[in-house]
Amino acid sequence: MLYGKVIQDVLLAEVAEATETMLATGSAPPHLSVVLVGDDPASQIYVRSKTRKCEAMGFGSETIIMDSESSTDKVLATVQDLNRNPRVDGILVQLPLPDHCDQQAILDAIDPDKDVDGFHPCNTGLLAQGRPQFVPATPAGIIEMLHREKIEISGKHAVVIGRSDIVGKPMAMLLLHRHATVTICHSRTPDLAVVSRNADILVTAVGRPGLVTREYVKPGATVIDVGINRVSDREQLENLLGDAADWKLYDERGYLVVGDVRPDVAAVAGALTPVPGGVGPLTIGMLLVHTLRAARRRRGRAM
Ligand code: NDP
Repeated sequence: MLYGKVIQDVLLAEVAEATETMLATGSAPPHLSVVLVGDDPASQIYVRSKTRKCEAMGFGSETIIMDSESSTDKVLATVQDLNRNPRVDGILVQLPLPDHCDQQAILDAIDPDKDVDGFHPCNTGLLAQGRPQFVPATPAGIIEMLHREKIEISGKHAVVIGRSDIVGKPMAMLLLHRHATVTICHSRTPDLAVVSRNADILVTAVGRPGLVTREYVKPGATVIDVGINRVSDREQLENLLGDAADWKLYDERGYLVVGDVRPDVAAVAGALTPVPGGVGPLTIGMLLVHTLRAARRRRGRAM
């Protein structure tokens, strides 16, 4: 099993050391500003865990909470204030935004040098050209995991299921730049199992519980499960998890979180990221790495 927490601990230790060095030179600590529009409970939890980790690292952080009725113009004005604020190194607009907000316009308004989530078209373009500045945290974390676990990418066949701007596309780019032969699959891909069974490295970023079964996986392949799916149907959970289901947690919460990959794929795969506990922790780890990088760049120290 590939546990993201282990890699996260290593990343955070490196971030803490680099931050200490930075502070020792009299520099202000890296500062992350998070914009949260609305009161979606899952988003609130994500934002809290991000800002808590920032505080633990000695970073400055703030969450700007905006009413769910806030207009696009109002959110844009907040982003522009943060762009102008010299104290702010990184800006993160928590997604999803309420439906009435123009998400693209808001993400496009973030200063590319403060765009620690890597969603700005300038950063997307730099990634496409193979000279990335800020890359979306989840695929960046997956590359970090493959690298640190010494899983060879060059010359391998990587299959990415999912083509979103946040995970699938940047993941495919990062694997391509590391010399994998990359196939991108999506909802219109026929014979998905046949395609994915060719993968030495299979990344699933779909959002469908248990989509990937043993039949999708070549024996010995590395399987990275990005999917985060809340399932409340007990029968579905019994079918997916069998005896491994944590029914005590289910009774407390009324749901369990599962990935896109059936856990019994572990018997076929060479390595598999569990859900939860696999890719998730890496995303926060990389956000801190990117915020530190933004701070160092803005203070004239490349990283
Ligand atoms: P999106 O909904 O934006 O994209 C999902 C992709 O899956 C689309 O490209 C879609 O194809 C494809 N897809 C849907 N159904 C199928 C199918 N039956 N067969 C093949 N492909 C299919 O999701 P995201 O990329 O934002 O997120 C994907 C998952 O990863 C979600 O569960 C999300 O919660 C999780 N996630 C986890 C993170 C972490 O930190 N661990 C971070 C970000 C996301 P099409 O384009 O044709 O519609």
